[in-house]
Order: sequence, then C-alpha cells, then structure tokens
Amino acid sequence: MVRSRIAWEWRRITVHMELILKPWVATCAETQKYLSEELDGELRGRTARRIGRHLARCPHCREALRSLRRTVDGLRKLGRADTSPDPVPTSVASQVVDRIRRGDP
Ligand SMILES: [Zn+2]
Repeated sequence: MVRSRIAWEWRRITVHMELILKPWVATCAETQKYLSEELDGELRGRTARRIGRHLARCPHCREALRSLRRTVDGLRKLGRADTSPDPVPTSVASQVVDRIRRGDP
C-alpha cells in the first residue's frame, strides 16, 4: 500500500520533472527524430544543446545513436566497395577473351 503510493508519487514527480526540464532537455521522441542530424553534426543552437543533454542522461537513446552510427558506417563501406575498381571481373573477362582468341572451348 505504502509502496504503491510511493511509486505513484515518484511517477508524478518524474512527469513534472520532464515538463519542467522540457525547454532545456529534449524528450526521447524528439531525440529519436533528430538522431541522423545529430550523427551528421547538422544540429545547431538550442536543438543541438537539448538533444545533447538528453543523450547525456538517456542510455536508451545513446544506444539508438550507436546502432545508427554502426549502420551508417556499414553502408558507407559498402558504397566505397561499389565505386572502387574490382580486379576480379576484369581478369575473368580478359581470360575469357584470351580463350576465345586462342579458340579454346
Ligand atoms: Zn531517450
């Protein structure tokens, strides 16, 4: 009975704290919305500060940012692999051309 009352009061206090801190600290929903901008360093001014403060206190959003960073890094590596010259197809192609020239089956 007393414990549930304390839990209820604590929830109430937490909600009030969030409302009081709102101008200074972003909520989880806002932070999730701005994660890619945060990753690219595109956030400026008040939004950047509010998101930064939220990330400092919320392990859930920090983990979301980390996993987004891993995904983006992986995609960038894939992008680089796609644009770099690939020696295998070229050598396979030249072998095929050589065989045709020599008249091999
Ligand atoms: Zn959060």
